[in-house]
Amino acid sequence: AEPILKVENLKKYFPLKRGLLASLRGEPQRFVHAVDGVSFEIYKQQVFALVGESGCGKSTTGRLIVKLLEPTDGKIYLEGEDVTEIKTKEELLAYRRRVQMIFQDPFASLNPRFRIFDVLEEPLLIHGIGETRAEREELIYKALEMVKIIPPEDYVSRFPHMLSGGQRQRVAIARALILNPTFIVADEPVSMLDVSIRAEILELMKSLKDKMGVTYLYITHDLSTARYFADWIAVMYLGRIVEMGPAEKVIDNPLHPYTRALLAAVPEPKPERRNVIKELPIKGEVPSAVNIPPGCRFHPRCIYAKKGLCDVEQPKLIEYEHNHFAECHLVGKF
Ligand code: SF4
Ligand code: MG
Repeated sequence: AEPILKVENLKKYFPLKRGLLASLRGEPQRFVHAVDGVSFEIYKQQVFALVGESGCGKSTTGRLIVKLLEPTDGKIYLEGEDVTEIKTKEELLAYRRRVQMIFQDPFASLNPRFRIFDVLEEPLLIHGIGETRAEREELIYKALEMVKIIPPEDYVSRFPHMLSGGQRQRVAIARALILNPTFIVADEPVSMLDVSIRAEILELMKSLKDKMGVTYLYITHDLSTARYFADWIAVMYLGRIVEMGPAEKVIDNPLHPYTRALLAAVPEPKPERRNVIKELPIKGEVPSAVNIPPGCRFHPRCIYAKKGLCDVEQPKLIEYEHNHFAECHLVGKF
């Protein structure tokens, strides 16, 4: 089968603001290497998780896919079609109907002056779906029922602030799904919600995936929800994917020292597995994406780093086992 979404050597560099003195001195323009050569494929009805600490480039990758940002370099294909070639307003509008985004903060992403009805009618009006108000109302009620905002007539006249955080995120999900998209980028959709309702929102997203045949990119800093929700996991560090594979492989047999360190921070519910992943410290802080370390960009923090190799040579993302990739010189040697 062909992938729904294919990303090839994607890069996004943001120019750093340069002071007047620096410009006068003719100092070179410096860049934040937010996304620095990322490639992956996502297949129909998969949940593909992009996991990493803040600043690793996962949100930027999501924004590049929905075209809120333009890449510095690289390609994005949706169902074989080159998305980076989309230039006109009409093409972009048609693309947005197929690729929707769910944001982290449902309060910030819903217009506080819009009633729930208007929140959901807006995309229909923008995309010219439903000729009459009655037709649109039917679609809006259906979308609310789908996300279990029931009965819809009790909610359509309310404003976002009159709903709970979980209900607001359900409305945001309804707004994304009402256009019947092919692909959804969900950027930390549950991280601002109460821990007790995270699972039910992810469960809802999962059931809607099967019902509507939608495919997700799930962006998260949280390996434990990725393990629960995703089929595939890609771990990002400083703008690159350092490990990628089926969720159970990445979680049960992490190949990269960074993935192991992230997992060591996740509480292990199964006691028999508690000793498998030993405490693995990471040294220091995430370096800035302006001054990327040479060689393996994880080497200043890696307890296995080998002098003369890891600090010199950039490792490549290699398939070590079927479908299981890692970007590390010493896989299997520690
Ligand atoms: Fe650590 Fe070297 Fe592997 Fe980088 S390449 S993760 S520094 S062992
Ligand atoms: Mg983010």
